[in-house]
Amino acid sequence: MAESQLVHPPLVTYLSMIALLTLAPPFVILMWYTNVHADGSVLQTFNYLRENGLQGLIDIWPRPSAVAGKIIICYALFEAALQLLLPGKTVQGPISPTGHRPVYKANGMAAYIVTLITYLSLWWFGIFNPTIVYDHLGEILSTLNFGSLIFCLFLYIKGHVAPSSTDHGSSGNIIIDFYWGMELYPRIGKHFDIKVFTNCRFGMISWGVLPITYCIKQYEEYGSLSDSMLVNTILTLVYVTKFFWWEAGYWNTMDIAHDRAGFYICWGCLVWLPCIYTSPGMYLVKQPVNLGLQLAIYILVAGVLCVYINYDCDRQRQEFRRTNGKCLVWGKAPSKIVASYTTTTGETKTSLLLTSGWWGLARHFHYVPEILASFFWSVPALFNHFIPYFYVIYLTILLFDRAKRDDDRCKSKYGKYWKLYCEKVPYRVIPGIY
Ligand code: NDP
Repeated sequence: MAESQLVHPPLVTYLSMIALLTLAPPFVILMWYTNVHADGSVLQTFNYLRENGLQGLIDIWPRPSAVAGKIIICYALFEAALQLLLPGKTVQGPISPTGHRPVYKANGMAAYIVTLITYLSLWWFGIFNPTIVYDHLGEILSTLNFGSLIFCLFLYIKGHVAPSSTDHGSSGNIIIDFYWGMELYPRIGKHFDIKVFTNCRFGMISWGVLPITYCIKQYEEYGSLSDSMLVNTILTLVYVTKFFWWEAGYWNTMDIAHDRAGFYICWGCLVWLPCIYTSPGMYLVKQPVNLGLQLAIYILVAGVLCVYINYDCDRQRQEFRRTNGKCLVWGKAPSKIVASYTTTTGETKTSLLLTSGWWGLARHFHYVPEILASFFWSVPALFNHFIPYFYVIYLTILLFDRAKRDDDRCKSKYGKYWKLYCEKVPYRVIPGIY
């Protein structure tokens, strides 16, 4: 059974799984509908659904279309080809509980840059107008919704009949297996890593491509680009660029090294991420806000600072681990705990836990700048509507839950050493508060 499920009481885990499986797909459609057809007003969507009920939802749910299918297939094939063909350094992931060490080609930054240049060139030379993506966004999300559910079914069957590595297994419950996944490192052939494709390439690159699409749509619709849209897009692109700068580090995180490939991670990155993560920009297309130069610059600077701090937290931890603690943390030798643990095969290993720098402020301090950065790329919408803030609220819940999941996992991995870390660094996320 995936460890993530064991954190909350079984009934809570089971009910939240069923709720997410049934509610997340229509929620994506309602997010699109509210931003694009209901003036960004949750109340308008709510009233519509109250008057029209389930039939109302069916009526606004766009049908998957050939145009949407073509756009998705072209994008997916392009990203898959870049993932396989672009050169990159060979990088090893962390050793899994069964002793497997995945090997990757670190070519994410190249794939991201090639995608953005290609997309902008197609527009510039009049070959493909990105506004088509915006105009068919509902159909695209609908097609992705169904297509990704089928893809998760494929992952479930593959995990049963043809797992790629020793890190796989069934909980014995079909819903849990579908939701959490069967395999930690599924691949097609030897080289095509499915989680790198879904999480990093399809998902994360769409987070760079869609804000550009929203800018172009707003420009074509109104003849100008609002400063709010510009701030939102620049901050998002800074964040996504930071992600690709650090992509090999991402392969050491929970998403890749602990969460298996199932609905939670893969559907999340294929459908939820492109829609919900880009929703503040989706809102701004039709609800442009004029911030004025000074306010725009303040928000931009604050947002960039948060992205930088978030990056520096991840960098500090990884540099500390990479050098085996022989590095400087905030100009001083780091303070640390040498924590030993036993693998599932019975081997005893050690890891270093950093207890100074950002990691001495709180055990998951890096989530604070992550949440604040998302606030700063949402706040250009100002406070006329609630919907641009949905992502910040969702992210806050996700990361606080993740901090608990990670703490519980580390507690069972490191035992008394983790207890010692908690004594040295008592706060989980916000220093002095939580
Ligand atoms: P990480 O996986 O990077 O960090 C947690 C892991 O680091 C632990 O499981 C443990 O792993 C190790 N660790 C914990 N404490 C220490 C320490 N003191 N010293 C050294 N190693 C330690 O966390 P996340 O995957 O949650 O986050 C990575 C990045 O992704 C962050 O920037 C986060 O903000 C971002 N993120 C963004 C999300 C989004 O949707 N926008 C969602 C989730 C994350 P081990 O077993 O190796 O000891």
